[in-house]
Amino acid sequence: MQLLEYQAKRLLKLAGVPIPTGRIIGVNEVPGEVTFPIVVKSQVPVGGRGKLGGIRIVKNNEELGQVITDVSALSIKGHLPSHLLLEQAVEIRRELYLSLQVNRDDRRIEWIVSENGGVEVESHSESVVIIDCKDASAHEKLSNALDIPTKMLSPLLAQLEHCFDDNDLLLLEVNPLVLTNSNTLICADAKIIVDDNSRFRHAAFDWPDAAPIKPLGGTVGVIANGAGMAMSTMDAIYASGAKPANFLDIGGGTGEDVFVNNLRFINGLSGVTCVIVNIFAGITHCDDIARGIIAAKQQIPKLVPLFIRLEGTNRDEAAKLLSDAGVSLEPSLAFCVIKAGKVAK
Ligand code: GDP
Ligand code: MN
Repeated sequence: MQLLEYQAKRLLKLAGVPIPTGRIIGVNEVPGEVTFPIVVKSQVPVGGRGKLGGIRIVKNNEELGQVITDVSALSIKGHLPSHLLLEQAVEIRRELYLSLQVNRDDRRIEWIVSENGGVEVESHSESVVIIDCKDASAHEKLSNALDIPTKMLSPLLAQLEHCFDDNDLLLLEVNPLVLTNSNTLICADAKIIVDDNSRFRHAAFDWPDAAPIKPLGGTVGVIANGAGMAMSTMDAIYASGAKPANFLDIGGGTGEDVFVNNLRFINGLSGVTCVIVNIFAGITHCDDIARGIIAAKQQIPKLVPLFIRLEGTNRDEAAKLLSDAGVSLEPSLAFCVIKAGKVAK
């Protein structure tokens, strides 16, 4: 899971890493008292915001309203923000690049740094230095590469290493790490990717509760468990002459909320006329899916017809729950596809 900048900075702050003072607001929200200059930063999960107008320095109250309106409405690489980060602007003497990441090929965690950080970092590959985090003199080498005294840099490096370990990160990138005019170091931007496999250890994180859905533009929605099941469901829909509206593998162990959130999303795709639910439950329990279906019927307004094929663990409990709720199951995927074809016409 990739964190948004403000979430990443929360983790840094907890680890004692210096970050600019700031506050998070909703899009188009009018902030209270503000001390200028501030930076208005679009909270989208992509980099390169600075070059695309998503990072704006604001000097006074007159400009602020317009900038908030503009940044709130600005789509960056296809992403609209739901939040903006307002931060006290820092005075930049130098911009450095610094990251810690898991290098799977070499089975190590490594530092990657450059003394030419900031928005043009990609064009300075000659200044990139890579050092094994376990290297006994890593901190000295990094200090040399960045031309910052070890005494000043080393405590920050240690804090970042702890943050990386404690939170099971795959990537912790700071660009820019700013050397300010008053000769202090501060992390002005942060990108963090948390290892999804560590989810059970970090219940407090804002984990996404819906699986990634790939919209495909057709009319028949698909919810299946297992990528192979989802692919074969799509094949059957194509073979019938209809087109799937999406690809979705909801995975195993799926609870009620995940099901409802995914179905809500698919139901909202333009052109969707019905949804085929094709589940062969192993780790997943059919009764959980049944509860999801019942909750979805209650919670999702204007829900399109569902054609459901449900087999496997706890199938009979599920069938009972559904029939009590007035929902019927199809005997096979073929029945679902035929019925979907009729609705699609
Ligand atoms: P990114 O473009 O998505 O990586 O967004 P950043 O947060 O890294 O901001 C892009 C650039 O905006 C930085 O490299 C800085 O040059 C500039 N910037 C960001 N925050 C500040 C700030 O507080 N003060 C000043 N002077 N510039 C800033
Ligand atoms: Mn950046």
